[in-house]
Parts: sequence; structure tokens; C-alpha cells
Amino acid sequence: MILDAIERASRDELETLQRTRLRETAARRGLDPGAELRDLPFTVKDDLRAAYPLGLITVPHEQLVRIHASSGTGGKATVVGYTRADLDVWTQVMARALAGAGVRAGTRVHNAYGYGLFTGGLGFHQGAERLGATVVPVSGGLTARQATLLRDLRAQALCCTPSYALHIAQAVREAGIEDLALEVGLFGAEPWTEGMRARLQAELGLVALNVYGLSEIVGPGVAAECLEGRDGSHVQEDHFLIEVIDPETGGPVAPGEPGELVFTTLTKEALPLIRYRTGDIGTVTLEPCACGRTTARMGPVQGRRDDMLIVRGVNLYPSQVEHALLTVAGIAPHWQLVVERPEQLDEVTVRCEPAEGGADRAALSERVRVALRERIGVGMAVELLEPGGVPRSEGKAVRVVDRR
Ligand SMILES: [Zn+2]
Repeated sequence: MILDAIERASRDELETLQRTRLRETAARRGLDPGAELRDLPFTVKDDLRAAYPLGLITVPHEQLVRIHASSGTGGKATVVGYTRADLDVWTQVMARALAGAGVRAGTRVHNAYGYGLFTGGLGFHQGAERLGATVVPVSGGLTARQATLLRDLRAQALCCTPSYALHIAQAVREAGIEDLALEVGLFGAEPWTEGMRARLQAELGLVALNVYGLSEIVGPGVAAECLEGRDGSHVQEDHFLIEVIDPETGGPVAPGEPGELVFTTLTKEALPLIRYRTGDIGTVTLEPCACGRTTARMGPVQGRRDDMLIVRGVNLYPSQVEHALLTVAGIAPHWQLVVERPEQLDEVTVRCEPAEGGADRAALSERVRVALRERIGVGMAVELLEPGGVPRSEGKAVRVVDRR
């Protein structure tokens, strides 16, 4: 594995580079280049929408060599533009993400991310080509054909969303294919859990790695997990500066605590963004990684800012409850959170159920209670129902019942 020098630079070296580049980015945006990061204003998705389509582009439009757009759920699409140098940065960070997953010259890469306005397809494509890998640009759809091509072309790396990977796995099963050559999967563009990782690894016989990105910042490749560590995605900190903030106050959270992920681009020309609030909730650590990279690592995205509950003054994300429950052996992955305010204080009850009947219920309840307190820091009551007792839903599960 060959790392770029900056990926194993000292924190001092990296932060010096970030300060220099932050000044350049602030100047591009017409802001005070001498300002401290915390004094610069946030940018939000609505700023991009208000400037639709190209109002936030800071270069003459003839310098744009590519335009992408993300689908506008309930509003206008978000349009982003790239100069030649921007495409080069994006290609570099995607090449690093793929190299970190073991892809090298000659590796066969089956790219089932959608090609087109969405940044997934072309982002992975460029990075894989830069490494000299052999790209199969399948794009999304025609799932039975995906399975046949995986078998016939002997792809070693699979790139797509984790939910689509499960779909492909099903098509592989249905076609009776048993001899895939897959070694690694690079999955992203939607949040996923450790449970999903285990399932993808078992069904496709590969190592499943997370790739994080968003088109506003560059596309996929903002951060990526390494093959050696598989424990958080390395942020490409020479190009993107990450902060974790309290979504209510905008102030920093304590190290390791969950909060809203905020990115500042450090090298973008066409669409430099200062302190862009992603709405994604996650954590960041500077603990050393087995791979030798010194860059900060993001934990998995735990949910969206809009899902946050405030319970007795503590920010609580429903997904934190799920993560805590998943650590308790013997607990089924079905749960519900009930929030009440009988007097002055909020009370939270976690309803969950044993994976099978006959468990020692008192001991199981206690293990759940301890896991919740240790992982979340808010005391919660535990109501252990019978197996099948948590209401099931046909569509999106109802995880929170707020009776306040
Ligand atoms: Zn690592």
C-alpha cells in the first residue's frame, strides 16, 4: 500500500497546510482571509438553493469543465460545478479512497453507482482509472445483468450503494451464481450500520468499506475507510476541513461526542464552501489507525440533524439507541423510544425485545440499561417486551413516540 505523504503527515504539518489553504478559500469567497475558522459564517443548503443554479460559483463560467446536480427532494436541485483543477482534486481523493480499499493497477472494478448528474458513477470511475484499475462502468439498474457481469468479468471490487449491493446479492443468489471473485466493496451515498456490513460481507464474500461524500463538497471521496482499520472513514484533510458542532448552538462539541458534521473545502476553485453544514450527525476521532494514516476519522453517520430529540437538555439521536442496543447480545433489532414528561422532567423508555424466548429477562434488561447509560449518558427506563412485542411497520419503522 502506498500512502500519499500528506496522509501520514504530523498533525502540526497538516494543520499548518490547512491554515494556509483556509486563508485562500476565505479570500475566494470574499471573506476576511485573516479570520479564525470559528468566526467565519456557516453555509447551509438553502444558500445553494437560493443561488440556483450557479450563483455561488466563484470562477468565470467558461472555466467550468463539469456540472453535476443532486436531486432536489422537495425543492430545487443543488447544482455544483468543477474547474479542471477541481476535477483533479476529486480524482485524487477518490484514487486514495480506492487505494485504501486495496484497489490497484489491474484490479477489476465493477462500478454500479449511477452515471450521470449524480456524482457517484463518475467519481468512482475517475479514481479507479487514475489508479490504473480496469473499470466496468455498469451504472445502476438491470440487476440480473449485474450478477452475470460480476461472474463473467471476475470483478474484485464492487462500488455501489449498500442497499443496491443487497439487491445485487439477491440477484446473484437467484441466478444460482456461487463463484464470484469479489474481494472488497466500496459502499456509500446512504448511511448504513455494522449490521448491514456483516450482512453484505456474508452475502457477497467481500470486505465492506464505507465511502463518505456529498456533491456540495466534491462528491464521493471526502472520507473513506481503510482496509486495515475498518473503523471510521479517514477524512482527506488536506482538501476538506472537518468540524463537529452542536446543531442547536453552533458551538463545538467535546472531542468524540456526536454532533453535526461541518466541512470547509480547502482547495476548491469553482465552488469553495466555508463551514458547510451537512445535516449529518456523526463523530470524529484522532486516535491512531492500524493503517498508519494520521488523518482524522469519521464514525458512521448516525442520522440527520432533523431527527434529534432534546431530553433533559441532552441531545439524543434515535440511532444512538440502536447502536447501543446492537452491542447487547440476545437483543432483537426491533425497538421503540417513548418520550414522556409526567411532571417537570422528560422520561425516556426504551422498548425492546429478546431475540428469542426463554432468556433471563431481568439480566437482559439490566445489560440493556447499562449499555444505554454507558453509550449515551442519559438514564433511560427499559421495557423488555415479549419476542414480537415491538410494533412492526410495513414501511418506515416508527422509532420515536413523543408524548410531551
Ligand atoms: Zn486507517
